[in-house]
Amino acid sequence: MTGKTHLLAGAFTALACHCTGAEVVMVCFGALLPDIDQAQSTVGQKAPLLGRILTHRGPTHSLLMLAAATFVNPWLGVGVLTHLLLDMMTAKGVLLLWPWHKKCRLPLAKYNKTRGKWEKVLQYALLAGTVLLCIASTDRFFDAPGIIQNLTAGFESIKQYLHNILTMLFK
Ligand SMILES: [Zn+2]
Repeated sequence: MTGKTHLLAGAFTALACHCTGAEVVMVCFGALLPDIDQAQSTVGQKAPLLGRILTHRGPTHSLLMLAAATFVNPWLGVGVLTHLLLDMMTAKGVLLLWPWHKKCRLPLAKYNKTRGKWEKVLQYALLAGTVLLCIASTDRFFDAPGIIQNLTAGFESIKQYLHNILTMLFK
């Protein structure tokens, strides 16, 4: 899967788990981290040497990587987990049990290619879900019910004011 899909999956998962801002960043970083084994990926560009040394979808896409990331920070582990699950939904699969060379992928993954039409559908679904979760979690950052209550009270007083004027004019 592409970096964009992984990032969206990380953001969606973090928001669904009611993460704090710092945890959201950690999950999103974890969601991109396994592709450090690919020199042209978003994180791989920061460490191009690793991209040349490591096999793509090998050690950084394994249970060992998941355990190491979770040990460093559980939210980093959650991000890595989303990455592994998404890559397991593609035909190429991942070497989840590395160093054992057994390709692991989920059922029906053989029909799904990176940058294929199903990835596009997934990207739109994740984008819609992330936007909805952002809207739903705004009350964690501002007092949405309070704002709505004030607006309602404001409309009520305007309505009452207009009613008073009309009553006075047509009495
Ligand atoms: Zn990957």
